[in-house]
Amino acid sequence: MYLFEVRKGLEMAMTPLPIAEVIRSLLKDLEQRIAFKNREELYQDLARRLSAVAGRKEVWSSTYVINALNPKFESRVGKPFVRAANILAATLDGLPLQIAQAKSVTVFALGSVKENSLITGSSIPCKNPTCTVWFVPNVWNRRECYVCKPVKRRAED
Ligand SMILES: [Zn+2]
Repeated sequence: MYLFEVRKGLEMAMTPLPIAEVIRSLLKDLEQRIAFKNREELYQDLARRLSAVAGRKEVWSSTYVINALNPKFESRVGKPFVRAANILAATLDGLPLQIAQAKSVTVFALGSVKENSLITGSSIPCKNPTCTVWFVPNVWNRRECYVCKPVKRRAED
């Protein structure tokens, strides 16, 4: 029997580096891997990559990247940009993008769930109105938690 109760979402603890430093390391990495014609092309490339990570339709401008490099503008850099930059920076250390994008949450597992597992399903509330448990179903049609509706075991022969 598996029971996962996702209690509260905690944002993944990221190294609290100033955004300018994160952007500098991303630019340095790109420069080492790709031959850009000039700085503008480099900034545009990073802006496109960050926009893709953030899932934005409208791409951030290269000016936004340049401003993020200036510590004076740190307070004006938006949270989605900072988050995207930290996700992309985490991939430089070899962390897969999906894991870097995942939120870290506290989970109570009755099954064998390894530390730092990537859980791809979403938690749903138990259909039983008197129950307060949220759980990640193991099959698509499960609507009640594993306490209200235990997993049926095959009759033993
Ligand atoms: Zn329940």
